[in-house]
Amino acid sequence: MTGEWTIRELAREAGVSRKSVWAWIDAQGWERPASGPWILDDERARLVLERFEQTAPLRTRREPTVCGVEDCERPRAGLQDVCTMHYKRRARTGRTERSSGGDWQTRKTHCPQGHEYTSENIYHFPSDAGTRRRCRTCRIAQSSRPRPIA
Ligand SMILES: [Zn+2]
Ligand SMILES: [Zn+2]
Repeated sequence: MTGEWTIRELAREAGVSRKSVWAWIDAQGWERPASGPWILDDERARLVLERFEQTAPLRTRREPTVCGVEDCERPRAGLQDVCTMHYKRRARTGRTERSSGGDWQTRKTHCPQGHEYTSENIYHFPSDAGTRRRCRTCRIAQSSRPRPIA
């Protein structure tokens, strides 16, 4: 007998609710102890943690989950990595870029407002997909600009 893991410990370790861990374990059809709480050995505990490893960071992420397409600030559509507009475009055309030519985005050297993408001027959110770059100058301008009166 090696490790002994309770659901509570696994949930804390995975950063998810006990209910989610329990539900998943239950769905695996693993033999449940006749009495008392679930006690999982190291092997099963590892499977549980692996299962929740992918979802846990998404839940605890603080950064806004915006579209993974460069220069798009729209929120992501549900569990997609892109916004609704880009999701639809990709579903329709197979790609998120408006133009043809796959590496058009990464070859750009300036943001849509003409600020150069230098190492000081670009930044990434940890949630950004791929190599998406964001223009810091635009970001600062946006956050300091008064809202237009409708
Ligand atoms: Zn988008
Ligand atoms: Zn810019």
